[in-house]
Amino acid sequence: MEERIEVFKEMFMRPHSPFLTELEKEALSDRVPIIRKDTQSFLRFLLNLRKPERILEIGTAVGFSAIMMAENTEESCIIDTIENYEKRIPVAAENIKKSGYEKRITLFEGDAAEVLKTLKEPYDFIFMDAAKGQYPVFFNNMEHLIKKGTVIVTDNIFQDGDMIESKYAVRRRDRTIHKRMRDYLYDISQKKDYETDILPIGDGLSLMVKK
Ligand code: SAH
Ligand code: MG
Repeated sequence: MEERIEVFKEMFMRPHSPFLTELEKEALSDRVPIIRKDTQSFLRFLLNLRKPERILEIGTAVGFSAIMMAENTEESCIIDTIENYEKRIPVAAENIKKSGYEKRITLFEGDAAEVLKTLKEPYDFIFMDAAKGQYPVFFNNMEHLIKKGTVIVTDNIFQDGDMIESKYAVRRRDRTIHKRMRDYLYDISQKKDYETDILPIGDGLSLMVKK
């Protein structure tokens, strides 16, 4: 049913630019874990709703989602994106250049947990899509980058379905991440200064807005 809904939704999705469509194909054939189709359309909707001027992304990969966010925001909107995998950094830099959004997208190289501490100005929209077990660390290191109205979207919170299973049902080696993700979801849902929700879109999204 879920897959059928995804395919059904895709039939009605407005296409990306030719460049981005090509980049998506390339990323998928290279097995780069870019955001899924239904996550793409939901992010696009959120961007049109929130109209951010400053976006932060954790987990650039090859630049697909950063470029998609640039395509769906105003000329004046800037996007800071962080990637730590040496092999992907030059590929992302090249794609950003080719996309024509080089002026609006800044690629930060290094471990997000560290890079976050060096960033100063708050963002309107934050998209977390990196090492899943590290979300609590990222969140703790970005509190100075959040202001009233900041929207924070976190991808892959279902971990391919593992998250909704009991910890006994997941393989032993996946249990640490299972526990960390459950703790993260519990923590963010308890924060009184945020409104938080969990949506079954793509591999699961958590959505927060600072009150
Ligand atoms: N947002 C991208 C996909 C990101 S895949 C898109 O949809 O197009 C997740 C990326 O996060 C990977 O490239 C991985 O190298 C990166 N990553 C993982 N841990 C990280 C960390 N601690 N700091 C920075 N990047 C990290
Ligand atoms: Mg993801």
